[in-house]
Amino acid sequence: MNLEQVFESYKENIMPTYTKVPLVFVKGKGSKLWDIKGKEYLDFFPGWGVGNKGSKLWDIKGKEYLDFFPGWGVGNLGHCHPKVMDAVRDQISKLIFIPNNYHHVPQAKLAKEIVYWTYPAKVFFCNSGAEANEGAIKFARKFGKGRYEIITFEDSFHGRTLATLAATGQKKYQEGFAPLPEGFKTVKFNDLEAVKKALTDKTVAIMLELIQGEGGINIASKDFVHGIKKICEEKNLLLIVDEVQTGMGRTGRLFCYQHYGITPDIMTLAKALGGGLPIGMMVVKKEIADTLQPGMHASTFGGGPVICKAALASLTAIQKEKLLAKAQKTGEYLLEKLHKLRDRYPAINEVRGMGLMIGLDLNIPGKPLVEKCFEKGLLINCTHDTVIRLMPALNISIKEVDRAIDIIEKSLIEVLK
Ligand SMILES: *Cc1c(COP(=O)(O)O)cnc(C)c1O
Repeated sequence: MNLEQVFESYKENIMPTYTKVPLVFVKGKGSKLWDIKGKEYLDFFPGWGVGNKGSKLWDIKGKEYLDFFPGWGVGNLGHCHPKVMDAVRDQISKLIFIPNNYHHVPQAKLAKEIVYWTYPAKVFFCNSGAEANEGAIKFARKFGKGRYEIITFEDSFHGRTLATLAATGQKKYQEGFAPLPEGFKTVKFNDLEAVKKALTDKTVAIMLELIQGEGGINIASKDFVHGIKKICEEKNLLLIVDEVQTGMGRTGRLFCYQHYGITPDIMTLAKALGGGLPIGMMVVKKEIADTLQPGMHASTFGGGPVICKAALASLTAIQKEKLLAKAQKTGEYLLEKLHKLRDRYPAINEVRGMGLMIGLDLNIPGKPLVEKCFEKGLLINCTHDTVIRLMPALNISIKEVDRAIDIIEKSLIEVLK
């Protein structure tokens, strides 16, 4: 397919649920991506006489982009990490899929590995972040034996299924989908008093992201998190930490909760866990994990062999390539550069972040800046209208960071003109 045919197929055959940038990518490596629109040729002898349609051809090597938001949080290893590719190739040639009424080795290994790096727990495998959170919500209700209310937070994001949408503290995503499942109370983030006021004898859990990603890179304060943990212990509530975006080294620790010195009762994972392939997981504290018994919850594709092998390879790469230390160091460097930009451009309100999860809070709309950066070959994201979200691969090089900063500054100057 050429560029026009791709666009045509999307228009005719795919539901328009995404705001799309008119770019078609064909290849990725590390923090680089190439689009389909290579050099354009006017073909005056198409197909040696075969081609009677259209006169344009593009070569495969398109424009190169630096990806500072790989896979919307999926690409912690960048694109096409060779070890993940090898693992997938190897597994796919042996056994592609085994349903969850049997056992297989990659699933056993991955579960063991995750529990090793977290806390005494048992895991449940699924396919996405929403599904992991949906599982956590169901788990809490079963655990509650009649208690069912879950406290969640303004500007949170937990997914697009009905229950996770109800948990998500953003009206704009809920509009038009009523009635949503009951039992969620949304209160102000980083406000412990608001949490206390929302407690009732029906409360069973508190669910939060330690850094709200989609909500604009809002970081939970230590006091707030410790306060919540204390409430959970006193009232026998489950602390559900959504690490779908913050997990797998994004913040400089393997999991963000490790910065806070607390342990969740349930942690949910997805996005970067599979090294680019779809997987979700719920990690439940061991002493309560048997709450869900055979038949109570399931996912057909959850934790298949190929995806588990990919996740294992990804975890190994994070350790072997010391990507946690790297994310911390590179994150500090990037933050420092951005702070310098802020000092020079009043259009930048605030810079905040942890590891390589960084937000650039503007007092102008972010979209024009994002578009200028695209033009100059840098892919970034804007969330909450004014927050530029930077989440490059953990193995991004300093040179690439410098290039990104340069493009951001040049784009900012153009936008401010
Ligand atoms: C992306 C995201 C989700 C939803 O994950 P999907 O895989 O898209 O269902 C849930 N929680 C957080 C914090 C996220 O960033």
